[in-house]
Parts: sequence; structure tokens; C-alpha cells
Amino acid sequence: MYLLYLDESGNENDPNDRYFVLAGVALFERQTFFLTRDIEAIQEKHFPNHQPIPFHASEIRSGRKMWRQVEPEKRAQVLDDLSSAIMLSPARGRILFAAAVEKTRDLYGENAVARATEEVCKRFDLLLQRRFQRDDDRQRGLIIFSQGRFDARAKIWVKDFHRRGTQWGAINNLADIPYFAPMHESRLLQAADLVSHATWLLYERRDPRLFHTLLPAFDAADGNIHGLVHVRATEAVCDCPACIGPRGPSPWLGGGPTES
Ligand SMILES: [Zn+2]
Repeated sequence: MYLLYLDESGNENDPNDRYFVLAGVALFERQTFFLTRDIEAIQEKHFPNHQPIPFHASEIRSGRKMWRQVEPEKRAQVLDDLSSAIMLSPARGRILFAAAVEKTRDLYGENAVARATEEVCKRFDLLLQRRFQRDDDRQRGLIIFSQGRFDARAKIWVKDFHRRGTQWGAINNLADIPYFAPMHESRLLQAADLVSHATWLLYERRDPRLFHTLLPAFDAADGNIHGLVHVRATEAVCDCPACIGPRGPSPWLGGGPTES
């Protein structure tokens, strides 16, 4: 079984944000314990003997809430340590997914959420299908969403999941409807939050600092990154890491270690 932990970034209704992002990390069932333990160790390293601190990437990066009292170097180190923990989890059982939806007059709000969810579910399903066809490794998938500000609406939406999934042709390998859990209770949803925030920063702000470390972990096969999709508002040529394909590396990652 693979568990796909998902979180969102950007506001699907706020016209000031151009992007809505849904992203996260799929983990083979036996790896969930170890990544949870490694993220717990980050808290113990930086805040020993402290009550549990939920790692919320945007709060850490911009120094909000409890992070206001934490010096910027330490905040940057916590984010680096979170990325490292994700990347050190064995690659075969740790795969990243993200959909960056560029909002338009027609694609915003609920439609943007549905489109991002469709993209990520389809891509997760394709990974499971590929594992079965190429490696004879038959695994089911389960999706766990972070309970967020859209929780009530999302739960209604999930009731419809099987019908939608059948329309997408994409839920063959999923074990059940998605589940919801509070982010502060799950270190793995906090890992998903980091992936989501890093992807949002890349697309909304063209800031690759958090993203470039994570890029090699996105689902890829045959020279294409299948785990990352840019749903574009226009037909204009795009050289982001998702659209550039085998022509890469993307100039959007400029200066990051992937180009060094
Ligand atoms: Zn693009």
C-alpha cells in the first residue's frame, strides 16, 4: 500500500494569488514510521523537550506565529532539515506529486481545487499502474488530505469521488475514498505541506529555494516528470520544470544545486 499525503497552498478564490497548488508525498506503508520519526528528530534537534510543534512551511519561512521568536537562520535550517528528511527516505517508496493550477476567469475556486485533485489522483494512479506493469508489484493507494479551511466542502466533494474518478478513468488502483486528518497531528501531512508550499513559491513567486532540493523526488520515468504538472492559463511556451520535459533543466531553478 502507498499512502499519499496531500496539502494545498495558495487561495483558490483570492484573485491576488495566481496559483492554487495541491501537492504532497506518497510513501510505501513501511516507510511512514521512519519519516515520521526523522521529522520528530528535527524538532528534538532544534527545540529539545518542547511540546510538539507542527511544522507549517509558510509560517516557518515568513516567521509567523511561534516562529516570530525564532531567528531566521534557525528557521531556514528547520526547512532544510525537513527537505533532507524527505529526500533521505528511500526513493523507491517515496514519491512526490504536485499540480500547480494557474487560475483563470473560468478556472478558479472549486473548479481549481477539483482540477488539481484530478491531476494528482490520476498521476498517483499512473505510478501504481506502472509499478504493476513494469515490476509486477501490485500495490493499492490511499489518499490522505490535510484538513484545511475547505474541509467541510471537501468532504461533500469526496462523497462524489468515485463518480469523478470514473470520469477521469483514474481510480483503478485506489483502495478507498480519500481521508482527512488534521495537519498538526501528522508529521507526514507536514511533509506534504512543505512540498506544497515549495511548489507554490516556485510558481507564484518564481522562488526555487525550497523546490530545487525536492525536484529529483517527483515521479519520473523515461526522462519525463510525471509527478509535477503545470495547468496553464495560456498556450504560451513555458519552460518551468514541469513543461520543459527532456529539454531541461528549467531556467526557473536558476542558481539552485540542480544546476551546479
Ligand atoms: Zn510550465
